Amino acid sequence: MKKTNPNPNANRNILRLAYVVSGVFVCMLLYLGYFLQFESGGVINNAYNPRVDLLSERVVRGEIQSSDGQILARTVTSEDGTERREYPFGSLYAHVVGYTGKGRTGLESLNNFYLLTSHVNLAEQVFNQFSGIKNLGDNVVTTLDSNLQQTAYDLLGDRRGAVVAMEPDTGKILAMVSKPDYDPNTIAEDWERLTADEEGEARLLNRATQGLYAPGSTFKILTLLEYLREHPDDWEEFHFDCDGLYENGEYTIQCYHGEAHGSQDLMQAFANSCNGAFAQIGLELDKGKFRTLTEEMLYNQELPLSLSYSRSSFSMTEDGDTWEILQTAIGQGKTQVTPIHQLLITAAIANGGTLMKPYFVDHVENAGGQEVKKFMPSSWGKLISAEEAASLTQFMSRVVTEGTGSALRTDAYTAAGKTGSAEFETGRETHAWFTGFAPAEAPQIAVTVIVEEGGSGGKAAAPIARGIFDAYFSE
Ligand SMILES: [Zn+2]
Repeated sequence: MKKTNPNPNANRNILRLAYVVSGVFVCMLLYLGYFLQFESGGVINNAYNPRVDLLSERVVRGEIQSSDGQILARTVTSEDGTERREYPFGSLYAHVVGYTGKGRTGLESLNNFYLLTSHVNLAEQVFNQFSGIKNLGDNVVTTLDSNLQQTAYDLLGDRRGAVVAMEPDTGKILAMVSKPDYDPNTIAEDWERLTADEEGEARLLNRATQGLYAPGSTFKILTLLEYLREHPDDWEEFHFDCDGLYENGEYTIQCYHGEAHGSQDLMQAFANSCNGAFAQIGLELDKGKFRTLTEEMLYNQELPLSLSYSRSSFSMTEDGDTWEILQTAIGQGKTQVTPIHQLLITAAIANGGTLMKPYFVDHVENAGGQEVKKFMPSSWGKLISAEEAASLTQFMSRVVTEGTGSALRTDAYTAAGKTGSAEFETGRETHAWFTGFAPAEAPQIAVTVIVEEGGSGGKAAAPIARGIFDAYFSE
């Protein structure tokens, strides 16, 4: 008698189900492997993951170091076992390194997981485990250059503002200073005073990433770019006669301190930062395209930045009236920008149009100095074309050689940039801006400076950039 399968389809279905189940299982294993290998650091390192703090019961928080090996933060354990976080440079790195204790900010927050993870060798870990001794956490070696940080800090002096410097071709942040500041060593004792902020100084605010300011004439870089895009063949025919006061119907726009620039071509108008010329350019621009350009340059957008930051805003639409256009074209009006955003735009121009993602940590090493994780430069993508970057570099070089950026004229290196003197309140001194890079033809460093109520960008901000370039090229 021949046995026949009562239902051949059922077997086939069971077989199919088995394949699916094992397929799902394999996928889960692969994902688990991938997660542990690549993603777990990111999830565990999330500053808001409270479980990471449990690690501090077994690990002594590691050090944060400058790129040249200075200790910016370390944990000191006293004889009775109490730990204290110490910041040997006091307020010098306050905002960028941040603090830990009253919550966490800056690099202390971003690197919490690395600092509380120990890669001391296994034998030592086992020994420590049995002896009840804590393992030493990993050390985070930053991209911050202690010489440039000190230079920026000293040059800003007692004034409010921010200085930030980066390598345009890698995205490494070399220096980041914000003033007024605080001493992270005494953050717990000073907490009430700092948060009450009765003087309105906002000392805890990292002005480099969170401070929003009118861009002033630094915004003419974008106005210029839009004009060049709309006039690729005839921009050289641009001409404007400046008598210091530009009038349009009921509106008037003054050049800085009413200075009459006289007959200006486009390059002169940019180098001298002629408000009249740029107000007139503004009226000619296609407002829709102009807005698109600002958004390509990351206004109203997220920045590729791991530290807390404020979002820059550009609000003029196609319905903008004459006054709004005149103001917006010269960086006044409602436009608001952070110093770090200005730096990213500047660095992209310096890097042939490609924006490198800014980063602060070069590598993580164990307590014995062995590298356990290395961070590499990565590109965000193109902000502008290489041709546009080259063209803007020419204009920005003229600012230094013949215009308002004369503080950067030197035989030691070439530089390119743009000054700005941004009005923010009637009757008060303008905020002074400078943003630029050096050397102009093969940029190695980009810097953005703002001095609150500093007056003229050329006189108050450009000399700080000069000091940083000097320090960088004499290293
Ligand atoms: Zn003018």
